[in-house]
Amino acid sequence: MKKADIVIVGGGVMGSSTAYSLRKNGFEGSIVVVEKDPTYEYSSTARSAGGFRQLYSTSINIQLSRFSLEVYKNFADEMAVDGEKAEIDFKQRGYLFLATERMLPAFAKQLMLQNSLGVPSEILSTSDLLNIIPELETSDLGGGLFCKEDGYLDPYSVMQAYRKNAQGLGVEYITAEVSSLTTEGGRMTGVQLVDGTRYSAPIVINCAGAWGAQLSEAAGLPLPVVPLKRQMYVFDSTKKLEKMLPLTIDPTGVYFRHEGDKVVAGFSEDVKPGIDFNWKRSSFDHLWPILAHRVPNFESLKLESGWAGMYDHNTADQNAIIGEHPSMKGYFVALGFSGHGMQQAPGVGLGLAELICKGKYETLNLTPLRVERFVEKDLVLEDAIV
Ligand SMILES: Cc1cc2nc3c(=O)[nH]c(=O)nc-3n(C[C@H](O)[C@H](O)[C@H](O)COP(=O)(O)OP(=O)(O)OC[C@H]3O[C@@H](n4cnc5c(N)ncnc54)[C@H](O)[C@@H]3O)c2cc1C
Repeated sequence: MKKADIVIVGGGVMGSSTAYSLRKNGFEGSIVVVEKDPTYEYSSTARSAGGFRQLYSTSINIQLSRFSLEVYKNFADEMAVDGEKAEIDFKQRGYLFLATERMLPAFAKQLMLQNSLGVPSEILSTSDLLNIIPELETSDLGGGLFCKEDGYLDPYSVMQAYRKNAQGLGVEYITAEVSSLTTEGGRMTGVQLVDGTRYSAPIVINCAGAWGAQLSEAAGLPLPVVPLKRQMYVFDSTKKLEKMLPLTIDPTGVYFRHEGDKVVAGFSEDVKPGIDFNWKRSSFDHLWPILAHRVPNFESLKLESGWAGMYDHNTADQNAIIGEHPSMKGYFVALGFSGHGMQQAPGVGLGLAELICKGKYETLNLTPLRVERFVEKDLVLEDAIV
């Protein structure tokens, strides 16, 4: 039996941001992060599209991203280790939702809330759109919703920087798989590892991403989260574009952005829940006509590679679930991020750290994302889901 004051299950971007923030908030006890795969090959963080946006319809999501924006803008310097900057390749090329005429009123409503929270989003006309993407097909569009502060970043580098900084502050990372959460009389007592080792800890934080809900359910603490496969495609637009792309969402839901001089695209396919990393080249047949229609330069594109990754998909309202479980003292979760965890990781880590160290949220009030909201039927209904 080993001992820790806090065990974090999963050392992806959420686990590492949380571990780092706990230390930064003055938590002096021992923190052990249990990560089953130090290469992170299958973690959602390493397989993310890295899109960053403040374009949401709910205050909580806008505030989380707005907080992260400041963190990511200063990340390279703030998270430097031994004088080496933590480069995360944050490209503030903007985030753009293309809209048909019919979609515009809903975007205009979102814009009012975003602007009221300080986000400089704007509704663009079709001619404005052509200033951003000169090759865009606009005949079936009414305009778009754009935020120039947004863009995309390198998720793996964000996670590694959090991990290295957490380690530098004395957080221990161990390579092992948690087989179960252990509890007694409504209190968390620790975790059991696959190799039989037990860690006793009064606080356990479940940051196990797409695998997290299963672990919780096995401990009798079900959460409305399932793993959902998402596929990404990398292609060469043989006919080059005049300008670098913002992260652009077509009205069909297909999205694309530059990655170096290539383009990365994806969409939310209707698939059955389950862990599945099998990347199907043939699924691109659905994307290609949409891409070729929207940007005629893509007609002659060359598909080069791709990958499949997992969303930890919240089936109830597609938003993060953060906080202490109401029926298990000492059990905290940060799960259900669906497709927007990268832009929330800094605020989630800080929020959990404040909750644990100070007993309440101070910087950002994450209460709307509490575990209890499902039984209370107080869902966070977000219209801008990708
Ligand atoms: C294809 C794709 C595109 C995406 N695009 C975007 C985007 O554009 N913008 C955005 O903000 N977000 C995006 N996301 C979502 C974002 O990447 C995730 O929300 C975020 O990375 C989740 O981080 P995490 O730390 O919770 O999970 P993970 O990164 O998966 O980390 C969880 C870790 O837990 C470990 N683990 C699991 N079970 C155990 C166990 N029992 N014992 C020990 N370790 C365990 C795993 O090995 C893993 O490393 C995308 C995700 C995917 C898959």
